[in-house]
Amino acid sequence: TVAVFGSCNMDLVAYTGIAPRRGETVLGREFRTAPGGKGANQAVAAARAGAPTRFIGAVGDDELGERLRAALTEYGVNTDGLRTVTGNSGTAHIVVDDDGGNAIVVVPGANASVDSLAPGDAELIAGCGALLLQLEIPFTGVESAAVAAGEAGVPVILTPAPAAELPAALLSNVDMLVPNEHEAAVLTGSADAREALRELLNLVPEVVITLGAAGSLYGNRAGEIVEVPAHPVRAVDTTAAGDTFVGVLAATRAAGGEIRQALERASAASALAVGRHGAMAAMPTDQEISEFRAA
Ligand code: ADP
Repeated sequence: TVAVFGSCNMDLVAYTGIAPRRGETVLGREFRTAPGGKGANQAVAAARAGAPTRFIGAVGDDELGERLRAALTEYGVNTDGLRTVTGNSGTAHIVVDDDGGNAIVVVPGANASVDSLAPGDAELIAGCGALLLQLEIPFTGVESAAVAAGEAGVPVILTPAPAAELPAALLSNVDMLVPNEHEAAVLTGSADAREALRELLNLVPEVVITLGAAGSLYGNRAGEIVEVPAHPVRAVDTTAAGDTFVGVLAATRAAGGEIRQALERASAASALAVGRHGAMAAMPTDQEISEFRAA
């Protein structure tokens, strides 16, 4: 079982020819909503890849909250740990122009309330094969979940996004860090992935740096290094590539898989996801991942 403690948002996306400047109003072409947020995305990726998965977080007592809960359930994620709090759900307000450029305002809403463990959360985390964390909820919430996992002997996998400095108290309970290239550079000050990997291994026992179309680089304190290439695919939408990667990595590890197998399945799953539109909607099932790898 995989536990995810983190954020969920509704993406509200307006498609327009040219994005408006300040004070300007433009007519858009289309409007779409899609459930997202790094925490919820990682949970759906793990569940689609076949792991029993529980999501712990919060939605608001609004219509978007009901839709977020329903979407997670539909994708096979257990929501016993998803609380409903007074106020708005988290939202991401996205404007996409015809060049594919975007501008985004994220309003945390209910995610801001996930600043500590609620009664029952520690029990939901204990006994899991992995706990996935990201940084889209308050640090105190991330820390308290990491402590609970540490006490229960549950491995903690942290995606340090959005990029931020990591307090030592948090790192002491993290088993694996999974930054992308940009986040690794922010954390270490080094643009070179190998160099960043070495530095990050001073902080935690295992590290995976994802390198977009260049694949991923794994290292651990025993000195083992594993490089996994990305699959050559035509990328149509790279939203949530990293979340798909981490979710599937955790699902495979929680089921007892070796690190190389976990990295290869994660690479296949994220390649499938970038070849399709959307975030959750693009994430492949266990069977799709296996068929893609066999092809
Ligand atoms: P993030 O989405 O967090 O920025 P990356 O861009 O590093 O993360 O992507 C995560 C993983 O997704 C990569 O390690 C790779 O396996 C896969 N991936 C990303 N972009 C592509 C691509 N264009 N083609 C194939 N695989 C990709």
